[in-house]
Amino acid sequence: MYDVVVIGAGPAGSTASYYLAKEGLKVCIIDKESFPRDKPCGGGFSTGLIDEFPYLQKRTDDFLKGIAKIGVLHSPNRRVVLQGKVDMALTLRTDFDNVLFECALEQGADSCTKTRAKHVKFHQNYSEVILASGNSIKGTVVLGADGVTSLVAREAGLQRRWPKDNITACRVAEVPATNEEILERYTEDLHYHFFANLGGLPGYGWIFPKRDTINIGLGIVGTHAQGLPRIFNSFVRFLKHERLLMNNADLSSAKGALIPTGGPVKKSFVDNCLLVGDAAGMVSPLTGGGIVFAMRAARIAARVLLSALEHDKLKENSLWRYEQMWQYNFGKDLKEQLIAQKIFTSPFTDLLFEIGKRDEQIQAMVSESMVESSDSELDIKKLIIRSLLVCLRGSLGR
Ligand SMILES: Cc1cc2nc3c(=O)[nH]c(=O)nc-3n(C[C@H](O)[C@H](O)[C@H](O)COP(=O)(O)OP(=O)(O)OC[C@H]3O[C@@H](n4cnc5c(N)ncnc54)[C@H](O)[C@@H]3O)c2cc1C
Repeated sequence: MYDVVVIGAGPAGSTASYYLAKEGLKVCIIDKESFPRDKPCGGGFSTGLIDEFPYLQKRTDDFLKGIAKIGVLHSPNRRVVLQGKVDMALTLRTDFDNVLFECALEQGADSCTKTRAKHVKFHQNYSEVILASGNSIKGTVVLGADGVTSLVAREAGLQRRWPKDNITACRVAEVPATNEEILERYTEDLHYHFFANLGGLPGYGWIFPKRDTINIGLGIVGTHAQGLPRIFNSFVRFLKHERLLMNNADLSSAKGALIPTGGPVKKSFVDNCLLVGDAAGMVSPLTGGGIVFAMRAARIAARVLLSALEHDKLKENSLWRYEQMWQYNFGKDLKEQLIAQKIFTSPFTDLLFEIGKRDEQIQAMVSESMVESSDSELDIKKLIIRSLLVCLRGSLGR
């Protein structure tokens, strides 16, 4: 019997396994894929993440594919372009997730890959994960780190299916490019781009230039995402027309994927079970970025479980501390970013860009929030007040 059975070896599952195994707990991490494996993603995150998880520092050569320095935001009508200087680390998820997975194994976690979990049976004092092979793995605790379509969330009764308006449907491609092709289009500072509400649809497109690839993607709120591949193709045509993408770009890697962008689950724990990362909807509703939240929640989950296992207190009336801690850590950010999402997908977005164009502080606030900069939160009240001030100043002719 394991102390903790972790389902999913993405950033959430591998990070939790790392911290649990490091403290000497018996951990088994299950994933339906074999590693290294790809995960459709932009692969961008705040550089602060590497400081937050110091064990990554010695592995940066294995996953870092550049640091983009200038964020460029395009208004829906394309008339306004805002720029901000905010570093964004870039990676390929094949490499990044593999490093996280290896770090967990180095600490002594067992793994069971290329194995799909089919059911979770919740017993009085332990859980049993039934695998597709028919075998089962038992653990005192089961950690649901199995992503946006989480089996654990469903079977624990915590989240059945994300409603369409709480999901962003994405299409993303990692386009191979030479160094010259990248420098010519994005300069040495590696300008990265966000395009708000493309074609009037709620969502955004992005370009993240990396060392030898250009990541382009498009995310649209689920209720409006019908015909996404066709919309993606017209985004690609637009980028080529703007000379932001090569005419002969190889888009054969284009894939679809979902992000839970309607805010986190109402409850992330039941007896002997916690949810972490996308399984719990821990994603910025504004940008769709979730790596940093998945990893922070995973570290908190490990801390809570360590003490809960030591004192044999694994019922809901102890595990609620997990939710309290992650809410304290980043719950407010997710709430603010949900409001920002509503504002930035509204018909007033063009107006906001017009206001933002006149104010450097607004530009800085927005661009920092676009990379989940760990040392700055998007203060929505401040942003609105600031925008109103700029309007007022404009109307007074100052
Ligand atoms: C197109 C796109 C672009 C994105 N861009 C960014 C970005 O630039 N920056 C950012 O920070 N975030 C981005 N995100 C979000 C980010 O990918 C997620 O928030 C992050 O991967 C969450 O990590 P996780 O460990 O919770 O889930 P995942 O990374 O999804 O990992 C879940 C794991 O569980 C496994 N699994 C699932 N079900 C089972 C099962 N039944 N049995 C066994 N294994 C199972 C899967 O194989 C997978 O390995 C993007 C997402 C998408 C879709």
